[in-house]
Amino acid sequence: MKVVCVGGGPAGLYFAISAKLRSKNHNVTVVERNPAGVTYGWGVVFWDDLLDELYRNDPVSARQIRDSSVTWGGQEVHVHGEHTAYLGGYGYSLDRQRLLDVLVERAKGLDIDVQFERAVQDVSDFANADLVVACDGINSLMRQLHSDHLETDIEIGRNKYIWLGTQRIFDSFTFAFEETAAGWIWFHAYRFDAHTSTLIVECPPETWVGLGFNSLESDQAVKLLEKIFERHLGNHSLINESRGGIGKARWLNFKRVNNNNWYYNNVALMGDAAHTTHFTIGSGTTLAMGDAIALAEKLEEHKNLTMTLAGYQNNRRAALLAMQREALNSAKWFEDVPHHINQNITQFSYSLWKRRGHSPLWRYPLHLATQITILRNLRRSLGMAKRGLRGHQREKLLQSGHR
Ligand SMILES: Cc1cc2nc3c(=O)[nH]c(=O)nc-3n(C[C@H](O)[C@H](O)[C@H](O)COP(=O)(O)OP(=O)(O)OC[C@H]3O[C@@H](n4cnc5c(N)ncnc54)[C@H](O)[C@@H]3O)c2cc1C
Repeated sequence: MKVVCVGGGPAGLYFAISAKLRSKNHNVTVVERNPAGVTYGWGVVFWDDLLDELYRNDPVSARQIRDSSVTWGGQEVHVHGEHTAYLGGYGYSLDRQRLLDVLVERAKGLDIDVQFERAVQDVSDFANADLVVACDGINSLMRQLHSDHLETDIEIGRNKYIWLGTQRIFDSFTFAFEETAAGWIWFHAYRFDAHTSTLIVECPPETWVGLGFNSLESDQAVKLLEKIFERHLGNHSLINESRGGIGKARWLNFKRVNNNNWYYNNVALMGDAAHTTHFTIGSGTTLAMGDAIALAEKLEEHKNLTMTLAGYQNNRRAALLAMQREALNSAKWFEDVPHHINQNITQFSYSLWKRRGHSPLWRYPLHLATQITILRNLRRSLGMAKRGLRGHQREKLLQSGHR
């Protein structure tokens, strides 16, 4: 089968790898508009569920992804830089560019043709392909070309956000809220390698306009943000220049993308082109790679392309439902920060924790206990032990021959 993936992000590259692993006879090409080594954004977070899936699907790239990741333990919530509360949990984070480098290397090793600096304008470029995977991201041109058939629905979020980097290392996942004369503004930050952290700033549109961000150049905006978050940055600056020089970070509104149909003829949507989940639950990359595995599995299962694509759509639509609901709840919570923040820090941070919409009764006592240093450290140690055990189990499964 001749397969073309339009877009060399996590979805496109991982689908190419997953399809080729299942059949060496597929002729797979990935077409990416950017030069090699160039992307937007900084680090991304993920959890053990993704690692389990990646190890099952392709242990070779899974190991490299795990080895290139760092772990973070616990979450901190700061209000005004004066009040601090703690949340539990742990996760992994990884440089988005490093993830792409691992996937490109693996794809090339499997004889996949990865073509950089080729911006697709039209599907007629691929008239002889059996399957075209549209994995060209949130503003997908491929999706727009067929939007009537795909029945695309796009909702624009209220808040403004900007995705920055910094050399200030945040070992815990950190939320910091500051009140300015124009209203509340906050960041979400975590480290993703030895020298760099992701730092995403978010605020309501009133704060954004009130602080003049609507008329400031990117560099001026960063200077102002450094001043606002001075006490959290410890003399480090914020970085708005993307790696590879494709431009400076810009303020955006989150776009919630949904499609009633995920395919039209032989074109299938994947990753952000098909669906987005708000960045405050850190799951878009995980879901994009999950789509990739699901389509590769369906391709192996069926001889008929329509059955393959229908099976893929049904499988992934159902798998995404809970996550999409949680992402929507989380986005709404952050759009309502000025309302939530008038509580004491323990209540406020608990409200932040349960923003996704589920909270068993035992959670609140655990939250109170987490505010006590000795109990927090104990919880963190248990989390690390759990993480270590899960990693050990993954390796053991691998050695025993289970994919
Ligand atoms: C602020 C922010 C923070 C995030 N944090 C996390 C996180 O912590 N964890 C997480 O899991 N996810 C996170 N995400 C989401 C994640 O970045 C995306 O969900 C993920 O990148 C989707 O992968 P993709 O391959 O579908 O799209 P992309 O990664 O966007 O890749 C699409 C590719 O297609 C290329 N392309 C576009 N148009 C064309 C064209 N016409 N021709 C050729 N190539 C084209 C682009 O250059 C790009 O390389 C975050 C997103 C944002 C905005």
